[in-house]
Amino acid sequence: MITSKGISRGIVGTKILRIVDSHSINAFFENAVVVVHDSEDVYFAKNVLTPLDHLQKYQCGIICLDVTFINSLHLGDVVSICEDGRVNVLWQCGQDDNLLFVTDFCNSKCIMCPQTQTSNPGHYYDQANLILKLVKDTPKFLCISGGEPTFIKEKYIDIVTLINKKFPNVALQVLTNGKNFSDFDFTKKCVISSPIDSLYGIPLYSGNSSLHDKIVRTKGSFEKTVKGIINLYKLKQNIEIRVVITKQNYKDLINISHFIYWNMPFVFHITFMGMETHGSAYENLEDVWVEPIEYVEYLERAVSFLNDRMLNVSVYNLPHCLLPESLRKFAKDSISAWKKMFLEPCRNCSMINVCSGVFATSYRNPQGIHRI
Ligand code: SF4
Repeated sequence: MITSKGISRGIVGTKILRIVDSHSINAFFENAVVVVHDSEDVYFAKNVLTPLDHLQKYQCGIICLDVTFINSLHLGDVVSICEDGRVNVLWQCGQDDNLLFVTDFCNSKCIMCPQTQTSNPGHYYDQANLILKLVKDTPKFLCISGGEPTFIKEKYIDIVTLINKKFPNVALQVLTNGKNFSDFDFTKKCVISSPIDSLYGIPLYSGNSSLHDKIVRTKGSFEKTVKGIINLYKLKQNIEIRVVITKQNYKDLINISHFIYWNMPFVFHITFMGMETHGSAYENLEDVWVEPIEYVEYLERAVSFLNDRMLNVSVYNLPHCLLPESLRKFAKDSISAWKKMFLEPCRNCSMINVCSGVFATSYRNPQGIHRI
């Protein structure tokens, strides 16, 4: 999430607002306006966001914000403005990688989860509803994530219903552990309520139930996830299997490919993913981290097995320079723009326009990054 901190002037609690033109009549209502120069002042405008160090009388807002952050804001963006001076961008108007984060809670405890386990987890379904109501543009793509987005089933259905009503043609991606879809009636309600072009991205860490459950750290997860995948298939949904590569499963990648081919060849897409070392992944780094150069030979076999059998397979979050020639055509530019970065060797690299780069949010980057 793009975020910045300034100094609050008269903001109480947290407000979720759409950015409007400072010269429009809307500026006088419960919206946010960006004021860069004093000459743009709208005397009675509420909720001003500015790099300046002062506000006009009767104005409230956040002052002393970073100029680069202010310049990145656009009309139609939705932001949260907090009384501690923080401004979070919750929706970027006209962008295709908007994500609705609906809850911190999860019914799994994956050892390499990139989410930070907060001491004070919360649900954000109502916030997501409000964001959707404020959005004026029509996105082509949208992602729902958490935590586990289906954690409160009724609230999840409310969100997808609103998305379907507002953006019936959106390509919706749901990042879920799939366990709640083991309940067929719930799955059916979700499918009926969701946009027709929905894709369920579901992690599977092994074809062996005990290894999968060990990585998820919750007994019975494998059985529920596989049942959820089968239920979604019965309802003709698009499914993406996401295999995050860790120290626990890198030698088992070929078996995962076998399991997928023999048990769920109907899936739309399979992706093998490099790890984001943030949150639990960082806390458990010694247990989960393995250098890509150590596992590429296993990855090559797993990808080839599926590709040779005409399944749609990709590699996410791994730079081209760490992959053998044979795997580069499967590597996608998969890291969201706001959390992707390139390192010093990337300068003048011939692959920079197609490469995923590395996670700016990771505490540890892979060894061996080199210019091609
Ligand atoms: S040097 Fe950088 S841009 Fe080039 S392939 Fe490696 S990570 Fe990608």
